[in-house]
Amino acid sequence: MQSAVDTEAAVSLTQALVRLRTVNAEGAEAVELPAATLVSELFTRFGWEHTVTEVAPGRPNVVAVVEGGGGPGPTLMFEGHTDVVTEGDPADWTVDPYGAEIRDGKMWGRGTADMKSGVAAMIYGVRALEQSGPFPGRVVVGVMADEEGMMLGAKAFAASPLAAEVDGVIVCEPEGYEVCASARGGIRLRLDLAGVMAHGAMPQEGRNPITAGARIVTALESVQAWAVERFGTHPHAGSVTVAPTVLLGGDPDQLNVIPAHGVVGVDVRTIPGTDHPELVARVRKAAEEAASALGVGVTLTVVDDRPSIEIPEDHPVVAGLVAAHTAVHGTPPAFGAVPGTTDGTILTRDAGLPTVVYGPGGKWIAHQKDEFVEVREIGEYARVYAEAARRFLTGGGGSANRPAGGAR
Ligand SMILES: [Zn+2]
Repeated sequence: MQSAVDTEAAVSLTQALVRLRTVNAEGAEAVELPAATLVSELFTRFGWEHTVTEVAPGRPNVVAVVEGGGGPGPTLMFEGHTDVVTEGDPADWTVDPYGAEIRDGKMWGRGTADMKSGVAAMIYGVRALEQSGPFPGRVVVGVMADEEGMMLGAKAFAASPLAAEVDGVIVCEPEGYEVCASARGGIRLRLDLAGVMAHGAMPQEGRNPITAGARIVTALESVQAWAVERFGTHPHAGSVTVAPTVLLGGDPDQLNVIPAHGVVGVDVRTIPGTDHPELVARVRKAAEEAASALGVGVTLTVVDDRPSIEIPEDHPVVAGLVAAHTAVHGTPPAFGAVPGTTDGTILTRDAGLPTVVYGPGGKWIAHQKDEFVEVREIGEYARVYAEAARRFLTGGGGSANRPAGGAR
């Protein structure tokens, strides 16, 4: 079956997708529309039943359901997204960010790794599976919008009736040959500091939110040390990090004024087993203690809260992938963790779906300049996906594969 993958077509599809500038930027409209249209047209050519559902104006999810024709069985989903982050200043690139040029065995451009190669590989992996003969159950191919934003595509899919029928998800994000059965969680916190404005010559007349902000930033180091002690270290996801990302206050043109307001932004990353409310309470307490000593008030806002997720390494969707990788490459893959969050986080949080992340491209190349993917990886991953799907759907990838619609 592995030989059934049309590698050339998968590489061409990756190039075609990269050449569409689907940048997910503030206020951008119909970001994913050209890519979604291209994918939808391809699914039509394949004869795949699919839906095109707008999750925001001009921003569709494209979701195909490929029936195996081999009797009842589980439902496996492959998942990817068509939006990309900005290229930044094109002058920083040594290649055309949207040229999808192939040189030295690599394809270059924004989205080559994150994750248009993954989208192409999963589509042609499923196509190879389908063309190799009937299989039990079915495969869902989900091409989502807005992963780089608020994950509207994953949220909409998680809320759809089809999601309730999915037994396992392979998210095709770039992880550098690692099978990631765990992903770190994230909490974004905003601390608004309320002081009292004063003349810089008479600081005793004010309450300085900048000094308070500096003390809070220092206190966050202790919060992180506490969290590492409290929640321990995960073999793949590491330990909790608490990083200040914003420290705002004052006006560079008003150097003689102590301002009334300040802001500290905090990016907290968590590991499986982290108690998010307990951690947020700890940040709040540390910030309030640091600021109240200066008479400065603190208002904490949880801007975003995404859990850390993990499924057992012997879960059928993971076991099938590991067996498939081993069959294609001759050696078993390494396990890893997703350093950030993916659509998989939302599919687990909102729909309870078991997700594993595995896809072409280096883990660290995403969102950088001169992004690239090794061209050979596109075909390799498509073969692994086809093989993993066959093993999962026929129950050959691990133990206790559940029938479709079974209890979760
Ligand atoms: Zn991505």
